[in-house]
Amino acid sequence: MNIILLGAPGAGKGTQASKIAAKYGLMHISTGDIFRANIKGGTPIGKIAKSYIDAGKLVPDEVTCEIVKNRLSEEDVKKGYMLDGFPRNLFQAEELSKFATIDVCLNIDVPRDLLMDRICGRRVCSCGESYHVSTLNGSNVCAKCGRELYIREDDNPATVEARLKTYEEQTAPLIGYYKKKGKLVTVHGGKGSPDEVFAQIVLALGE
Ligand code: ADP
Ligand code: ZN
Repeated sequence: MNIILLGAPGAGKGTQASKIAAKYGLMHISTGDIFRANIKGGTPIGKIAKSYIDAGKLVPDEVTCEIVKNRLSEEDVKKGYMLDGFPRNLFQAEELSKFATIDVCLNIDVPRDLLMDRICGRRVCSCGESYHVSTLNGSNVCAKCGRELYIREDDNPATVEARLKTYEEQTAPLIGYYKKKGKLVTVHGGKGSPDEVFAQIVLALGE
């Protein structure tokens, strides 16, 4: 099974992604994670990506599509994968259809007014876990691995505003695009715990 995870920044894609990957044995491919690894490593791709990410804009399609195309040509995705953060506009979706077969586009729908607080309260760990300050009870370490949590550089109010605008203008049209193709499944991610949202996902994707 090959799936796309769609949702606004703060919709909980990352949180659900690890649960989905574990249950269905899918390779989790996050373009945001790939860019952040490149920035950390100081690679040419990282240098290009940083200015766009800091501004809440999309990294140019040529760069992004090439990365995904290469990643999907590797052996470890053959049993199925989940794209998290790609495609993010109609051009990327069209490109993707040239080199991949997608079974389902899973859209996590969260009301706009919740997103800002969710992202600005986010604390992340280098192991991939993420938390919200409201549930940490003052702790600043990862419950999974014990490392210290930090705030992602693009999780500040100004950049978040820009990311939400980019989402609405460029990414939200993908909902209609995959609906037309008969591949869209929507779950509600605005209320309920992560486990409750995941239960809806399992209902939608099947056991
Ligand atoms: P979020 O969904 O919380 O905004 P991501 O980790 O998915 O976070 O993405 C962070 C940033 O990386 C985006 O704001 C964007 O600048 C860049 N990025 C990620 N995926 C793509 C993509 N498919 N196309 C262009 N830019 C991307
Ligand atoms: Zn951790």
